[in-house]
Amino acid sequence: MESLVNDPVVRRLRALQEQWWFNPRYLSDPGSASDQLDIDQAAARLQRFAPYIAAEFPATAADGGLIESPLREIPAAQAALQRLAGLALPGRLLLKCDHALAVSGSVKARGGIHEVLKVAEQVATNAGLLTPDSDYRTLASPAARTLFARHSLVVGSTGNLGLSIGIMGAALGFRVVVHMSSDAREWKKSRLRALGVTVVEHPGDYSAAVAEGRAEALATARCHFVDDENSRDLFLGYAVAAQRLRPQLAAQGIEVSAERPLLVYLPCGVGGAPGGIAFGLKQQFGPHVHCFFAEPTQSPCMLLGMHTGLFQQIAVQDIGLDNRTCADGLACGRSSSFVGKLMQPLLSGIYTLSDDSLYRLLALLRDSEGVAMEPSAVAGLAGPLGLLAQGQRYLEDNGLVPYLANAAHLVWTTGGSMVPADELESYYQPGPHPPPGA
Ligand SMILES: *Cc1c(COP(=O)(O)O)cnc(C)c1O
Repeated sequence: MESLVNDPVVRRLRALQEQWWFNPRYLSDPGSASDQLDIDQAAARLQRFAPYIAAEFPATAADGGLIESPLREIPAAQAALQRLAGLALPGRLLLKCDHALAVSGSVKARGGIHEVLKVAEQVATNAGLLTPDSDYRTLASPAARTLFARHSLVVGSTGNLGLSIGIMGAALGFRVVVHMSSDAREWKKSRLRALGVTVVEHPGDYSAAVAEGRAEALATARCHFVDDENSRDLFLGYAVAAQRLRPQLAAQGIEVSAERPLLVYLPCGVGGAPGGIAFGLKQQFGPHVHCFFAEPTQSPCMLLGMHTGLFQQIAVQDIGLDNRTCADGLACGRSSSFVGKLMQPLLSGIYTLSDDSLYRLLALLRDSEGVAMEPSAVAGLAGPLGLLAQGQRYLEDNGLVPYLANAAHLVWTTGGSMVPADELESYYQPGPHPPPGA
């Protein structure tokens, strides 16, 4: 720990200064990925469940029971960002709208729901209620619900993961226990309780809630623990998003190539969601996609872990940060035990941003595009101009400079559509920041 005190990156983290970190171990051609992580299997599972999901959650029926979000261009936000920064942003700016994902209103509707469905599939298959050829709508039958009611799901969460596990678990009939960290929002707890989910509140942060959940699950029979700090099934559920992005990009006239690079900005908490998505994107687009994570200045667990090489062995509290941020979905002090290492050759970089910046971007997006979301979800919006301002060296080293006019910048939003209106309004209040010139 001594040597960390003089490390300039760690010094800036301790001082809560916003910064860009470019990953020195990034490889544009890292070779083939781990075959233990099979995205196709997860995608096939979601496909098998689609008829069940379409029947249980009518909002997904138009997409045939797939939980998918729109991709849209945001030229008004692009203009507002340029005015705010006094800097041109060449290329196109797009929003991947996971804040509007059906069923649970956040990116956790990908990973969290995939893991619940996998458990349901195993339990029902073991009981002889399901074969791969079954019509999965049979899982809504009384026999299946009686079976699931004998099993429980336990999870520790800052809020949105609990919401996803709770909503899908309760729909199937599982008993669900959600351990919530102190920063979890009140409405998420009441929403879960209304579904019959047991909510256990903890005075500690996210890591404490996860530890409590893990301990409870170990002591309980027929219980599955959704382990946000370790789960491959969460990760793979997130990764499916990347396969579905290619046709969405094509529909916007975007074919990714060396001359038409794709730059993606992903809000990062423990790392599972952005890690899974980035992992999937690298499989789809290889060296032509460049992935950056965004973290709050108070909770830069992935930057700290990857920069020091200590990964999950170091927490932001170890360098004196308190992990308190308005971005409650990103308030993780310690990164996932496997995502940081997996990202080592794949991730281009990480930047941090303050709560003030998050509120400013939230207001900018709402004023310019009329889109409202939670503070965590806008973290990616600082990426495109930040990269142009801070990343000259990265852009040069990766041969991107001549192609910036053809670039697509994709800001991945992650949560908000289930947030109650008055709460959304309160996020907007702290920063009435009209863009200069408006
Ligand atoms: C969970 C979450 C993230 C990040 O996901 P991790 O897997 O924790 O990195 C980002 N935004 C929101 C709104 C979230 O709920």
